[in-house]
Amino acid sequence: MLINLTDVLSCDGKVVKKTVETELKSFDTDLGHFPLSEEEPLALTLTNLGKDKLLIEGSTKLKTVIPCDRCLTDVETLISLSISREVDMQQTAEGRIEDLDETDFIIGYNLDTEKLVYGELLVNWPMKTLCREDCRGICRKCGRNLNEGDCGCDTVELDPRMAVIAEIFKNSN
Ligand SMILES: [Zn+2]
Ligand SMILES: [Zn+2]
Repeated sequence: MLINLTDVLSCDGKVVKKTVETELKSFDTDLGHFPLSEEEPLALTLTNLGKDKLLIEGSTKLKTVIPCDRCLTDVETLISLSISREVDMQQTAEGRIEDLDETDFIIGYNLDTEKLVYGELLVNWPMKTLCREDCRGICRKCGRNLNEGDCGCDTVELDPRMAVIAEIFKNSN
């Protein structure tokens, strides 16, 4: 959603509050494709700090599903975002790129809430996701989820050098 900022920018010290839907249905990155559903809409507070500086504050809660790092089971994950970004409205888009300023959520005099939330998700995405603290992962031999019980595989790690020799024997037969 694009929010027109001309109202808040009309006079110094002006504060505008708005609650909008995030409208972001998924989070797509190199890490994968994650569905998003909204737990709490995006509550925005826009403050004109004067001298064309704008403070964008916001909070939202989103729910997603991330596979467990060890066993790949889907884990429902709640992500709370607390946003606080200061934007210099005098900067041109080109100037922002030169300054490596990642305010691509400002388009002219509009705020793109989807881009704002996407950028925050990039920074706040959970580094680690486990279905439970003591997740036992999956068996490397048969692929069974070990949380559901032992698979009976010989889980003694084969020495990598031995593995090479075993491979040679297998191929020579
Ligand atoms: Zn797990
Ligand atoms: Zn196994």
